[in-house]
Amino acid sequence: MSVTAPADFCRVCRHPGINEIVGYRSYRRIASDGRSLPHGGRLGVCPNCQAVQKLADADWLADTRDLAGRSAWSGAMSIDPETGRMIDDAGAWLERWRPRLALPAQGRLLEVGCGRGELLRRFGEVFSGWELCGVEQDERFRAEVLAIPGVGGYFTSEEPDVPGQFDLITMVHLLERLLQPTAVLSEARGKLSPTGWVVTTVRDYRRDPFALLVADEVLHFTPPVLAGLFAAAGFGSIDTLEDGEAGEISVIAQRGRTATDEAVAPARAGDAGVKAALHWLAELCRLARHRGINRPLGIFGASVGGAWLAQELGDRVRSSWTRIRPRLAGGCSAVPSTGLRISPWATR
Ligand SMILES: [Zn+2]
Repeated sequence: MSVTAPADFCRVCRHPGINEIVGYRSYRRIASDGRSLPHGGRLGVCPNCQAVQKLADADWLADTRDLAGRSAWSGAMSIDPETGRMIDDAGAWLERWRPRLALPAQGRLLEVGCGRGELLRRFGEVFSGWELCGVEQDERFRAEVLAIPGVGGYFTSEEPDVPGQFDLITMVHLLERLLQPTAVLSEARGKLSPTGWVVTTVRDYRRDPFALLVADEVLHFTPPVLAGLFAAAGFGSIDTLEDGEAGEISVIAQRGRTATDEAVAPARAGDAGVKAALHWLAELCRLARHRGINRPLGIFGASVGGAWLAQELGDRVRSSWTRIRPRLAGGCSAVPSTGLRISPWATR
């Protein structure tokens, strides 16, 4: 069942009115720092651009006050499905982007939402001739980031301007957290050199339904919605990549010849994908509860998904480890306990 909440507007195309998915209010939520949040969150779909989003009302602001805008990740590891080895996400992102970018031996990189600087470090190992800069919300990681070889600047969001132009601007799992994504992309566009690139990676809720449960991730993208957002911000060359295994979407974009006020184009798809994702989550809980009758369970997943499922199952869970890569077609990831014990919050 959906209802229109007329007081709300789309954070992507500013269309007035979001079709709320009322059933979402019954789902327990989780903050990206692992804290459990009560039921009652609000999720909806824009009837114009089809962007899925949390309804950022007063309750949402109160729930996420300490989290909004912070980087989502910090050196997360996951399992390479082909080799079985642990790999770090920063290295995986660079390998995904590099074939699409004709990067010169020298240039300037700005990472917006740089966290502890894992991506800057990885990039600098490959492109030692580049000057690297990071932007974060506050001063927490200044000393750590500035100690990375090649890093020449660390800026906070309170500072009025980041000096100079950049040949590459990266934003990883940042757009999901922004209440004004078009403004931030437009600002990034203005910092690009004439041939520079903006690269972003976001979570794909269709392949990673746990993203819908993260209270401080306000926006949830599909490739058309993400591409439309870049077009509205004035980008003229927009290349969309999907990584089904990682459950992520990337966009590699260059500035258009002229600034535009292009509206975000209506997209198809509706909210069926959201309802399928929410149904998958409910089925995951149901199946895990059923299999956990009279025996302990372990959870193959240590990030937000693992933490959320552990809280849903309560004391049925004996142990949990590493990180879930959910496959909508692949069924439940709950497996019998392995005896390994890693905190579900360890890698988030
Ligand atoms: Zn919209």
